[in-house]
Amino acid sequence: MKIIINQVPAEGLCLEEEIGSAELDLDTALIKFRAPLKLAARITRITNALTVDLNINAVIFADCSRCLSEFKWVFDKDARLSYLLDSSDVFIDLTPSIREEIILDYPIKPLCDLNCKGLCVKCGKNKNEGGCNCGST
Ligand SMILES: [Zn+2]
Ligand SMILES: [Zn+2]
Repeated sequence: MKIIINQVPAEGLCLEEEIGSAELDLDTALIKFRAPLKLAARITRITNALTVDLNINAVIFADCSRCLSEFKWVFDKDARLSYLLDSSDVFIDLTPSIREEIILDYPIKPLCDLNCKGLCVKCGKNKNEGGCNCGST
């Protein structure tokens, strides 16, 4: 998402854009996007300062680190970005900051549920789906 500075009017500017996860280089071994992320930005400019109130919305598919099943996670985050403008700046590219805002919220160990029971260490059965015959431990 790029903002052309001289196109920001005095009353501010609202932008909406969809951006592919590949463009943001966001997919990891555990976390995948299957649809573009939705961005909404309200941009205001006061002399040489640009403020962007941003909303990032995306559906993320992650693999649970305990039971290994895939689960869906709705990512919705508001962020405020501020930039000091130089007289030579023509545009501001928000993409690196957007990427950072998302990655900051990535879980280190994604869990399908805080109470996920994980897999049985003996037979590998997903214990969220019921017990197995390996004993009660
Ligand atoms: Zn799980
Ligand atoms: Zn078992």
